Amino acid sequence: MRESRIERVHFGTVEYGEDLLRSITSFVSERKIHLGFIVLLGGLRKTSLAYYDQNEKVFRKISCDEPVEIVSCYGNITLKDGNPHVHLHLIGSKGDGSCIGGHVTEGCEVFAAEFFVFELSGEVERKYDERTGLYLWDLR
Ligand code: ZN
Repeated sequence: MRESRIERVHFGTVEYGEDLLRSITSFVSERKIHLGFIVLLGGLRKTSLAYYDQNEKVFRKISCDEPVEIVSCYGNITLKDGNPHVHLHLIGSKGDGSCIGGHVTEGCEVFAAEFFVFELSGEVERKYDERTGLYLWDLR
């Protein structure tokens, strides 16, 4: 465990047609945010998510080409190989109210998006974890 504090709160929008993950990643990279969390709402034209198969240790793609409402999108910002890394999860609802959810990958085409980024003091670097096959927080 570690402790931190909120340094600044940034907020912004992602423009129509932009890639959600790429836009948020450039936002935090330009502002040199090394640790933080993000909350985001809006809508997507296309959705590209992933589900991590814990047994095979691979990400499986989840795609949706119909517009969805972003019911919830939450994530964190840490460092991976010294660069800001955005880890985002999202739940999107379709026209009939059914939802898809998962780990956000490139390919989410924004209809509209509003977000807050809470920048925290300190840094956390991600490190490859043999047991899970994931790059997890290295708190040692
Ligand atoms: Zn994830």
